[in-house]
Amino acid sequence: MKTIGLIGGMSWQSTAQYYALINRETAKRRGGLHSAPILLDSLDFAEIEALQSYGDWDQAAERLVNSARRLEDAGADLLLLATNTMHVVAPKIEAATDIPFLHIADPTADALIDDGAELVGLLGTRFTMEMDFYADRLRRRDIDILVPDVDRTNLDGIIYNELCRGIINDTSRSIYIRAIERLAARGAQAVILGCTELELLLSDEDSPLPLYDTTALHACSAVTYALI
Ligand code: GLU
Repeated sequence: MKTIGLIGGMSWQSTAQYYALINRETAKRRGGLHSAPILLDSLDFAEIEALQSYGDWDQAAERLVNSARRLEDAGADLLLLATNTMHVVAPKIEAATDIPFLHIADPTADALIDDGAELVGLLGTRFTMEMDFYADRLRRRDIDILVPDVDRTNLDGIIYNELCRGIINDTSRSIYIRAIERLAARGAQAVILGCTELELLLSDEDSPLPLYDTTALHACSAVTYALI
């Protein structure tokens, strides 16, 4: 099995989920006591979040490129970046390394296409919802994207102020469910949990639309690739 290089810490709450999901999926597929060879480079999210809020994407890209190179030099065979938002700098990571980079939006697009979804809601940080890097990648696969037309600041605040700190709050869950209901009313057939912490707050039982959990889809795709 190939060694999975994981750029994590954004936040560590979801990186812990990646670690568990990758190992659980590996044990499921290989049986017995098998677990996954993983190299983890875990960054200090306070520093990354500060660069995000200054809009200093070049400095943020440099941090992530350095992390990717550390993993490559340490022997990783493939790279995973355990956050949707920071895929805004994915092209720079891909250009700076020689090992495959598994983009988080790709297994999500594959699952949506398999299920025949064409118009899909996207929930995540304000960067993921408002910048083009994420929706454009899905549109190139013929998936049309809707983002919430109201309340984006509030939805974003719940991610940074609660979920990235491990705080799970029923009122915040209701705010997200209302956002999903509004997306459904606009015609969305499904919703992408386009933030790796959202699976901590939302599950299919809560939601009026099918949820596509990018954390689980990304982690499973890494296991598939690592086992080829
Ligand atoms: N983990 C989150 C995401 O998937 C948000 C934290 C970040 O800004 O990286 O977008």
